[in-house]
Amino acid sequence: MYQTPAHDYQYELNKDLNFSAAHYVPDERAGKCSRVHGHTYFVNITLAGDQLDDLGFLVNFSSLKSLISDAFDHTLLNEHERFKERPPTSETLAETIYDMVETFIAGLDNRPVCLQIYLQETPTSYVIYRPKESRK
Ligand SMILES: [Zn+2]
Repeated sequence: MYQTPAHDYQYELNKDLNFSAAHYVPDERAGKCSRVHGHTYFVNITLAGDQLDDLGFLVNFSSLKSLISDAFDHTLLNEHERFKERPPTSETLAETIYDMVETFIAGLDNRPVCLQIYLQETPTSYVIYRPKESRK
């Protein structure tokens, strides 16, 4: 369904989720995106690993959903601390979601890895964020 990087892990998990949020890019170069507007963001998170936890999960699907949706749903993204230095574009939002997922899975004993974040902002625009090898 999504293009994912080739890997050698036994398990690959993909979680789709969406949330509605407003944002703006405070610079006239952003054109009409400099005005506050909203999107229903669609996200796909790809995780992989070789070890399952004692329940047989690589990671619990519902914890991924609440991790991201609870943080951003029905909010103004620009007000989040994470976007004080860089505005919430599709690129910075995808990277931020990666960082949040990475922090979460770092606490799991079976230590899955996050291979990519797919973030669709509009029906015709999406970005994929993948960590550099050195960040995995
Ligand atoms: Zn926008």
